[in-house]
Amino acid sequence: MKVICYGVSPLEDPYIKNWALKNDVEVSLIREPLDETTVHLANGYDGISSEGITPVTEKVYEELEKFGIKQLAVRQVGTDNQDLVAAKKHGIKITNVPSYSPRAIAEMGVTQAMFLLRKIGIFEERMDNNNFSFDESTISTEIFNCTVGIIGGGHIGAATAQIYRSLGAKVLLYDPTYNAALEPYVTYASMDEIFHESDIISLHTPLLPSTENMIDKASIAKMDKKPILINVARGGLVVTADLISALKEGKISGAGLDTLADEVDFFEKENAAESDTPDDYKELRSMNNVLITPHIAFFTKLAIKNSMELALNDTKAIVEGKMPKSIVNK
Ligand code: NAD
Repeated sequence: MKVICYGVSPLEDPYIKNWALKNDVEVSLIREPLDETTVHLANGYDGISSEGITPVTEKVYEELEKFGIKQLAVRQVGTDNQDLVAAKKHGIKITNVPSYSPRAIAEMGVTQAMFLLRKIGIFEERMDNNNFSFDESTISTEIFNCTVGIIGGGHIGAATAQIYRSLGAKVLLYDPTYNAALEPYVTYASMDEIFHESDIISLHTPLLPSTENMIDKASIAKMDKKPILINVARGGLVVTADLISALKEGKISGAGLDTLADEVDFFEKENAAESDTPDDYKELRSMNNVLITPHIAFFTKLAIKNSMELALNDTKAIVEGKMPKSIVNK
């Protein structure tokens, strides 16, 4: 069997090569993304994989069909760059990797919360100014004395709940879909109960019309315990201007943000110009009770390994006429 992988970053090379060796499959690695100018390289291969960013047009599926290829495995969750209907028309099954390591993202959220809970940003700033003192404003709460409210109890929310529970915190969860498997770790609650009772609020929902802007002036007004807010899900869940006001007024005591609503303009850029970074980012970054990371919660060795392996497992399954795990255009 011969498989071609497009848009491969050097970081992914060893995991793909290792999978190829284990499965006795010949795999070619191409740095360029899959598009109309590179699709010809797939001629002669049985299976194909690509990344989830560069838009793929119908012409590409048409060519793949001519080459006898029956699938395209996206090595990420998102398949927004694919035309799922056109792919189906040309007999191309698109697969994705819906969950590559929920713990990776969960651990980043918990790490940010612990940093903020222990006021490390404030102490760092003080030490930068040769101030080694502590006082009432920097006293902490221990995690087992905290109530953590989790919004969204899917793969990542569940992993987050398990970690907080194992640290002894009380964990509240709101999710419209009930999951009995989470009962050992959480107490199901309403959104309002979470807003009123939580010391830490951790967001783990997709960005949907029902979740967009869920943290705004109105929901912040219900936050009685001046919580820490953690957003490692999607920037659009939070109204950034309302968060900044709440941080200034002390209604939210800290924020850990791996995602920002306007991140596409500058996250992942290696040499971002001053003009690339928006004012709200600069303002948040200047606060000693805010921790921002550039959408890297997923970025662990296991997550990269799993993204490669699960995508290639589905590639192999389809080529062998077996059932893949994650078809997105059934
Ligand atoms: P998932 O699909 O397993 O879980 C999402 C959960 O949200 C589901 O249980 C769903 O019922 C629930 N939900 C839907 N609408 C809701 C609402 N209105 N209120 C409360 N809960 C609601 O997804 P996941 O794998 O756990 O990922 C969650 C999110 O994390 C993703 O959608 C993505 O935005 C984000 N993410 C971030 C990174 C990162 O690196 N920062 C990486 C992967 C995913």
